[in-house]
Amino acid sequence: MMVGMTPGGEGERTRVLVIGAGQAGLSVSWYLRRLGLEVGRDLVVLDRGPGSGGAWQHRWESLRLGAAHRVHDLPGMDGLGLGFADADRSAPARDVVADRYARYEDALGLDVRRPVEVTGVTGLGDGFSVRWAGRASSGLGSEAATAPGTGAGAGAASVPASGSVRAEVVVNATGTWGAPFVPWYPGRDTFLGRQLHTADYRAASELEGLDVVVVGGGTSAIGFVLELDGIAASTTWVTRRPVDWLDQGELDVESAVAAVAAQDRAARAGQALPSIVSGTGVPRTRRFVSGIERGVLVERPMFAAVEPNGVRWADGTFAHADAIVWATGFRPELRHLAPLGLRSADGGVSVESGASTLDPRLFFAGYGPQASTIGANRAGRAIARQVVARLSESDAERRRQG
Ligand code: FAD
Repeated sequence: MMVGMTPGGEGERTRVLVIGAGQAGLSVSWYLRRLGLEVGRDLVVLDRGPGSGGAWQHRWESLRLGAAHRVHDLPGMDGLGLGFADADRSAPARDVVADRYARYEDALGLDVRRPVEVTGVTGLGDGFSVRWAGRASSGLGSEAATAPGTGAGAGAASVPASGSVRAEVVVNATGTWGAPFVPWYPGRDTFLGRQLHTADYRAASELEGLDVVVVGGGTSAIGFVLELDGIAASTTWVTRRPVDWLDQGELDVESAVAAVAAQDRAARAGQALPSIVSGTGVPRTRRFVSGIERGVLVERPMFAAVEPNGVRWADGTFAHADAIVWATGFRPELRHLAPLGLRSADGGVSVESGASTLDPRLFFAGYGPQASTIGANRAGRAIARQVVARLSESDAERRRQG
């Protein structure tokens, strides 16, 4: 069924290009390998990150595996002896996930090309032209990018800084980590202290002795408030809506059904995706309950404005702040798809069961209802099957045309 890789006018040619090697991209790749796609000829995976682990590699050191929501195994991980069940729950989640994903990639022989950033995807009659740029300076020291077509580590010194690859099908699995969202409040730009987003957070010690305002109603915000206790001079926690505390101590799939359905509705309609936590609620873990009982986790409503030295509520109350931590979420990272003109007037892209409704050669893994590790696993199989069906259709079309 597969046609081989042929030198294209623009560079390498492959049948399926996966953008992003986080849990979503890896899950789809696993099933594509199982369905017979060969790495290089049929399947190329690019990733902008310096190492394995997707967004997990960038998370803060103090986020332990045991404090994250459950990180589910990727398909086949258990059979490879890489399942998370036996992982050290007290180890930094980023290290455990990066290590296991790296070994998973090796077991699949995926040869992920990194750090290679996709900068633009353009539609062609028979597929896509995908422009990429090597990110040699993004954490690999002096090592150059491993560009599409060069193989792991091969000829790194001569790798061009940018190029393009042609693919019949593109699976976009770029996640959200690269698109942090900070809501606008009056005066935000006048603040004289430090403002950081979840994506910038490294350790509570960086905010030692400061008056800190933490914004957000999700587990990241709650984790920051708890970590800052006893380290920051004071912590003020504000949320847009009162936190919906669940009775149970763990977020199970059942309780997430409504949230997943809401994501799915928005994705199908091409609307901006709702926040996940607004649909799931926050589990009362032992750590969170202890924070509430100790009076550390005290929610306040959102302030009305930011001032140079703090934040002010509508009733005139003021809290001094040296730093504001915006734990206010992320948006899907889709900038590189702009040339395809997929954005609807409602601010999203229309996606049904992982497939673009506007272009049958384009798939979205990890988007909307697939954003958790368990969702990404299920979606991986469904997307891989659709991709292979699409390739078979184009083979049949080619045969008809002689
Ligand atoms: P990512 O892990 O972000 O992977 C996307 C990959 O695409 C990255 O490696 C990136 O380098 C690459 N990429 C992006 N743009 C480009 C480009 N233009 N060119 C090339 N490569 C590109 N879920 C859970 O199930 N359990 C949890 O405990 C949990 N905790 C979370 C905590 C936080 C703070 C956040 C933000 C999310 C959490 N999630 C959790 C949700 C979800 O599982 C993760 O966000 C997960 O990392 C998403 O996987 P992904 O593969 O879709 O995206």
